[in-house]
Amino acid sequence: MSDLEDLYQEIILDHNKRPRNHGKLEVSNRTAEGFNPLCGDHVDISINVEDGIVKEVAFEGSGCAISTASASIMTEELKGKTLAEAKELFKKFHSMITGEERETTEETGLGKLDVFSGVCRYPARVKCATLAWHTVNAALDGDGEAVSTE
Ligand code: ZN
Repeated sequence: MSDLEDLYQEIILDHNKRPRNHGKLEVSNRTAEGFNPLCGDHVDISINVEDGIVKEVAFEGSGCAISTASASIMTEELKGKTLAEAKELFKKFHSMITGEERETTEETGLGKLDVFSGVCRYPARVKCATLAWHTVNAALDGDGEAVSTE
């Protein structure tokens, strides 16, 4: 394991232990719930969108370290983004994590989300890492249906 992977591992463990933006927003206008039956991960997302910008985003739920850390880091990255930017980030994250797009020479432009770049080597964990994102996507689309990775 490289030093970089060690560092990524540490960041994931830290976010799992001390999840950021954990809880439910008092004021929110977009919510969605997501499940990953394969692993037993469950996440509740609440978002407050104002003037087309993600003002606040929080999550609750229970799941494995990857799903919790992914939700935690995601909330940090989404804050302040426009809806279009949030969707774009989801797309980039998704293609990185499913290994569709490997950018070896350039930076992915994903910032902190890069810590999950190794997950594409573990197909069973991909759903854990993307659960919160699929849920946010559903919340932003506002169809109000529970999301399942299956
Ligand atoms: Zn999981």
